[in-house]
Amino acid sequence: MSLNHADLQFDAEHIWHPYTNLSEPTPVFGVESADGVHLNLSNGQRVVDGMASWWSAIHGYNHPRLNQAVKNQVDQMSHVMFGGLTHEPAIKLSRQLVELTAPELDCIFIADSGSVTVEVALKMALQFWHSAGNTQKKRFLSFRNGYHGDTFGAMSVCDPVTGMHSMFNGVLPKHLFVSSPDCRTDADWQDECIAEFEICIRTNHQQIAAVIIEPIVQGAGGMRVYCAEYLRQVRQLCDEYDVLLILDEIATAFGRTGTMFAYQQADICPDILCVGKAITGGYMSLAATITTKQVADTIGRFGDGNLMHGPTFMANPLACAVACESLKLLIESNWQERINKIESQLKLELAACLSIESVNDVRVKGAIGVVELKKAVNMHQIQPRLVELGVWIRPFGKLLYIMPPYIIQPAELSLLTSAMKQIATELAAN
Ligand SMILES: *Cc1c(COP(=O)(O)O)cnc(C)c1O
Repeated sequence: MSLNHADLQFDAEHIWHPYTNLSEPTPVFGVESADGVHLNLSNGQRVVDGMASWWSAIHGYNHPRLNQAVKNQVDQMSHVMFGGLTHEPAIKLSRQLVELTAPELDCIFIADSGSVTVEVALKMALQFWHSAGNTQKKRFLSFRNGYHGDTFGAMSVCDPVTGMHSMFNGVLPKHLFVSSPDCRTDADWQDECIAEFEICIRTNHQQIAAVIIEPIVQGAGGMRVYCAEYLRQVRQLCDEYDVLLILDEIATAFGRTGTMFAYQQADICPDILCVGKAITGGYMSLAATITTKQVADTIGRFGDGNLMHGPTFMANPLACAVACESLKLLIESNWQERINKIESQLKLELAACLSIESVNDVRVKGAIGVVELKKAVNMHQIQPRLVELGVWIRPFGKLLYIMPPYIIQPAELSLLTSAMKQIATELAAN
């Protein structure tokens, strides 16, 4: 218990947390250490983590093999510039990514965060059309309720209303948006589901460089699930109208939705794929944009052919080394069975929430469980209450949701779902 009141006071006065107000700080909990699915808080409480640190800590915390991978690499070198130099961790990781992804996805840009991979993906698409001699295609088409990151390019393709960025209107380029898909499963499919998208791409394709969407599950923009058929048809329409398809799998890649990549559920392949979050098992910031030889070669043909991006910490060896080990760990594990079991348990245990007054909807996909409430929660009240119930769950707006580490045991998962039910019940009583 080393963090004291003065430390937390300093934090409140000086340090921004994600989307917070320094003039009116929201209470934060100190955390001392973490192991397995548990966080050990400064107040002495040990809570089950339902968030996997925003989708990333898929193997749990303090994993001996991941710890060892970092230790081994630190003794070789922590970092070197990637300009003009290369190293084993980057090559090994890229080999793994080429192998894991669809055969067409062959060319890799290793970046330092998800938002940066989205910037790179957008640049790839723009450079592709520029190199192909088409100077018209400069816009992007996205879904509403999407989330693609917080940097300017990424923000411009986030939901224009709920995307937390409306105050930047006027500074951001104007892209095209259609409603999020409302078909949850292929059984709900009607051709109307895709009508708005079809009209938008047909009308505007001459200006559209790429469609950029999150496949199967929309994450931070609304925690919505949609069917594989929609995604299949998006791919067909992109082909028909000569538009690239960028899939942002920063949240969904590496098993979260039940398949290694969500796009596999639609049996398609994107032109450009963004991965991040779970790639290092939650140890360090790392992400990658992966594309086809065709896109890479087209970009390479024009002018000096350079892809115009190159961050200082590109392909950081420590992060690449831990990512290699994390992917190895994932592949060696029975992750599919684990995710299936988590999914079944979530469906079973969260179904009860549907009959609670305060609940609007319940959605489960792979290791993701969502309880959508009728009203936005008051975080000042709910966050301490959740901790009191022994869990780390961080709701936003009307959404109470979890995406736990894959190693979670049934009793620990039940603790999470019970806490969600309890909160919904208490909200209904108020
Ligand atoms: C988290 C996320 C991002 C942004 O990644 P950062 O690493 O936070 O920059 C982009 N797209 C999706 C779908 C995400 O979930």
